[in-house]
Amino acid sequence: MQDLPLCDECHQNPGLQQDVEGRSLRLCDRCADLLRVRMAFDEAVMDVIRLTDSSPDEALRLLDHLNEENALQDYDGWLQKSIKSQRALIFATRKRYHEARNEILSIPTTLLRTAEERTEHTLEKAWVLSLCGEHGEARQEIEEALVQNHGLSPNSRLRLLTKLVEFMDPKDDALPESLSTLSAEVIQELGIPVRKELQTKAPVDAIRSADRLFREAGHRYASLMARLVQKTPDERTASMQRFAQIEPVGFYRQLASRFARK
Ligand SMILES: [Zn+2]
Repeated sequence: MQDLPLCDECHQNPGLQQDVEGRSLRLCDRCADLLRVRMAFDEAVMDVIRLTDSSPDEALRLLDHLNEENALQDYDGWLQKSIKSQRALIFATRKRYHEARNEILSIPTTLLRTAEERTEHTLEKAWVLSLCGEHGEARQEIEEALVQNHGLSPNSRLRLLTKLVEFMDPKDDALPESLSTLSAEVIQELGIPVRKELQTKAPVDAIRSADRLFREAGHRYASLMARLVQKTPDERTASMQRFAQIEPVGFYRQLASRFARK
């Protein structure tokens, strides 16, 4: 057993080459089960989304069934978390706010392992709370996530800040001092050209403007990538270099120049 090569996923247990839904992967038994659970969810969730409007109870039953079938192999709780957040979404869409709130708040934080998963969860939670009319609580969730800042990327912090200002009354609410500082840091780290004056005088407007500029740059980058598909390697490098010279947002300039060097 010791001589077997390690699993491609966990790099801890010996893995065997196996066929998972047409893909050949080297996996240990645990990781193979985890992958099958994720695939079962991904497959069922399309039907769940389709049924959410027309037949929500049917959608909830589908999720129950999925849980019954796979709970024993849900070793890391990923399925439990995904089902709860899907249930919250169904309840919220059907204006069953009290149930949506209970469902989203019942997800244990121990099931959120990466900074990305925590950000998604915070945004989902804030969305459900705001639907329930709990704008103050929604804001508080986001502020806490930003202040705790456990390994959040600048992109995640910008998403959280943008969501936070969505819940603010532009006339009455001021951004706390610590978050103004944090917002200035994020804007600088991502290289977004927002005027310093705006950042000092109107930090909420600065965040809105940063979000807009960053999303526009993301669209420019995505459309560049789409155009590159038909080009030769030399043309690709040249296009990437040109993009890196003229793109106003530093984050995407860097992505493009890194790609051009490959
Ligand atoms: Zn493994």
